[in-house]
Amino acid sequence: MINITDSLLGSIFDIYLARATDKEIRQRKVASGGAVTALLVYAIENGIVDGVVTAKKTKGLEGEAIVARNKKELLEAAGNKWSIVPFAARLKAKIEEENLKNVAVVCLPCQAQFFGQMRDFPLLETDFGERIKYIISLFCMGTFAFDAFLNYLRMKHGIKADTIVDISLKANFLEVHYNNNVLQLPIKEIYSYLQTGCLVCTDYTGTWSDISAGFIPTEKGWTVLITRNNRANELIKNAKKEGYLELRDGSHLTGEILKEARKKLARAQANMMYLL
Ligand code: SF4
Repeated sequence: MINITDSLLGSIFDIYLARATDKEIRQRKVASGGAVTALLVYAIENGIVDGVVTAKKTKGLEGEAIVARNKKELLEAAGNKWSIVPFAARLKAKIEEENLKNVAVVCLPCQAQFFGQMRDFPLLETDFGERIKYIISLFCMGTFAFDAFLNYLRMKHGIKADTIVDISLKANFLEVHYNNNVLQLPIKEIYSYLQTGCLVCTDYTGTWSDISAGFIPTEKGWTVLITRNNRANELIKNAKKEGYLELRDGSHLTGEILKEARKKLARAQANMMYLL
């Protein structure tokens, strides 16, 4: 157990490297080990949550918020998130329509803050925070200004939006799959197409979450999981005990995660000065 609090990384209970034991999940999530999907499959199959609200990629950068209730639906939603999907309205409607009592939400740090504040400091009778059992935030360097990025792909690379079938993040570049081709773009080249809010965002890991999850290039095939409290830590340990996850100590990665978080902070500070 680490139990540290760092102003950039938030409160850390423990850090793990994890991967799914299920080969089907691993094959779908080659880069990161599929630990989040496996953890959620464990939570659903053991009645710990009755649904998982997450974003599902539709085409290119587009996505929609869905509720997954089984492994098949979770696998369909697995993947990197490159656009902000409006969660709040969808989450509330689904919770009410399907009478969900305990949900897990997989989201980005800015959304984790919204859900975390609503759960921990409810203000309105219409808040539904008490039904959010786990908030899982994905590490995030930014999402794209949708129209501007698609325009850039069309103008500079001749790629039309309707031909894009997938976009995925690799170590230092972004891969755009379109028709039967793949275009690799250095991350530096596409920074300026990030959403304006992302340019001043300082939260890399999702400090309001129960669990933060991300990928570190030096640990290919494994997911970094940061637990924020004992409840989240128990969930992960029990998933391991029940055979859903393989776990290794990840505390040696604190410096590497902090380095990325500092890069994001420096970017935000530079952009704030520019905007003021
Ligand atoms: S960079 Fe910040 S504001 Fe942008 S999507 Fe990520 S968490 Fe949200």
